[in-house]
Amino acid sequence: MTKTHYIFVTGGVTSSLGKGIISSSLAVLLKARGYTVTIQKLDPYINIDPGTLNPYEHGECYVTEDGAETDLDLGHYERFTNVFTSQSNNVTTGRIYQSVINQERRGDYLGDTVQVIPHITDEIKRRIQILGNTDEYDFVITEIGGTVGDIESLPFIESIRQMKWELGSKAVVIHLTYIPYLSAAGELKTKPTQHSVKAMLQQGVQPDIIVCRTEHPITESIKGKISLFCNITKDCVVESIDAPSIYEVPLNMLKERLDVQVLKKLNIDPKREPDLTQWEDFLYKLHNPLQEVTIALVGKYVELHDAYKSICESFIHAGATLQCKVKIKWVQAEKLEQNVDMNAIFSDVNGILVAPGFGQRGIEGKIKAVQYAREHNVPFFGICLGMQCAVIEFARNVLGWQDANTTEMDTDTPYPVIDMMEQQKKIKNMGGTMRLGAYPCVVKQGTKLFAAYQTENISERHRHRYEFNSDYLQSFTDNGMVASGINPESNLVEAVEIASHPYFMGVQFHPEYKSRVEKPHPLFISFIKAAANNA
Ligand code: GLN
Repeated sequence: MTKTHYIFVTGGVTSSLGKGIISSSLAVLLKARGYTVTIQKLDPYINIDPGTLNPYEHGECYVTEDGAETDLDLGHYERFTNVFTSQSNNVTTGRIYQSVINQERRGDYLGDTVQVIPHITDEIKRRIQILGNTDEYDFVITEIGGTVGDIESLPFIESIRQMKWELGSKAVVIHLTYIPYLSAAGELKTKPTQHSVKAMLQQGVQPDIIVCRTEHPITESIKGKISLFCNITKDCVVESIDAPSIYEVPLNMLKERLDVQVLKKLNIDPKREPDLTQWEDFLYKLHNPLQEVTIALVGKYVELHDAYKSICESFIHAGATLQCKVKIKWVQAEKLEQNVDMNAIFSDVNGILVAPGFGQRGIEGKIKAVQYAREHNVPFFGICLGMQCAVIEFARNVLGWQDANTTEMDTDTPYPVIDMMEQQKKIKNMGGTMRLGAYPCVVKQGTKLFAAYQTENISERHRHRYEFNSDYLQSFTDNGMVASGINPESNLVEAVEIASHPYFMGVQFHPEYKSRVEKPHPLFISFIKAAANNA
């Protein structure tokens, strides 16, 4: 048996309670006590991964080093803990069934009837223990997506029941619930929590700790009620009150002793008191800005800010480092396609970021935003599709190639300055088939990219099908657009900039996936600095 202990986090009453933030906060506290931790998310939906999900429904798709397309909660895990996640850290019902069905087709079950219990639950348990079996972690925190009582989460709860039975004091269950406040009655209500714990008990799982999300402080008598009805000692009823920033939650959980209760339940003597000086320093700077900038974020999913989660968080990290508050002005790319006054939209911003994305909608608006930034010397940052738009804009308006385009939008363009790689052309399936995950990049000395990273060899994560078409590279460099980052293996252009512009940066990769509280991303720092200079 490995040293690993298992912590399960389930949710009750309603979705969107922030299980990901609670899991991440607990991980921060355990790490600060000197333990190694990883967090995993099990998602009950049938998609194999979130790569094919609409960002409007599920928010951004987060990409890991190994190229897994995962739930956005994995972004929180990495940002809070600075621990890399991988494909093993996000498993869906679809993936579980896919492996079981593949095994059945191979004949691995030797004539057995394949059933939810034990075959599906065994596969779930195996996926949970894959991380523990590496022996790299003192704790594996497993967050179960969805809400207890959902039909689709039943096999996951059953797997927890079995693992609790098998592992005894090496497993603990934290149940996150909501305590609504009825203003007419002037009261906090525990009934939904009681029901949700009952639903868990019906499925054979007694939670060990209850974390109560609430908008108002929870009184001792409320704690007493939950304790009595849910068979939980009062010190294991933990308040999680609404916080002004998600980054406050680890400190709130420290105050509420969530980590202490978890260690107690697992019979572990705490190694040491948690050291959170760096975290507190980050929060101090975040809450005490000395200046402010406004960045226009031009995208097509701007109505749902979660679709750009990692970018928003990267701004928070970089802004805190510079003690600069970053305000985002959301700009719907499609709107820019109409006959709008671009000055009215952009004259009050200090920088323009053109966001990643897919498909035709809003593309011409994004290109117009690039043109505005280039012509008005406004600091510009283009990420993935945003970089591709910068290349198209330059081709059209500087090189004079009027119909230049990416072949994603126009297969017949006479100037396919962004084009699909040969290997991509043969691929028919949409899921998991892009250039995904970490690739090395060599940074050209003397560029703004180099000034930001201060090093020649970097590695960043990708998620795209189309690439800068190197056939045209010479014309670009001859006219002032520099290829500042090159993939050393494939020679693909990974970054472009315009030397004569105060700050004009386009990157084919996604720097936002690697920004952390502990390590804000150098490209976001340099962009905010440039925006502050333009304030
Ligand atoms: N749609 C573009 C491509 O596939 C860009 C993708 C992105 O912005 N992530 O290459």
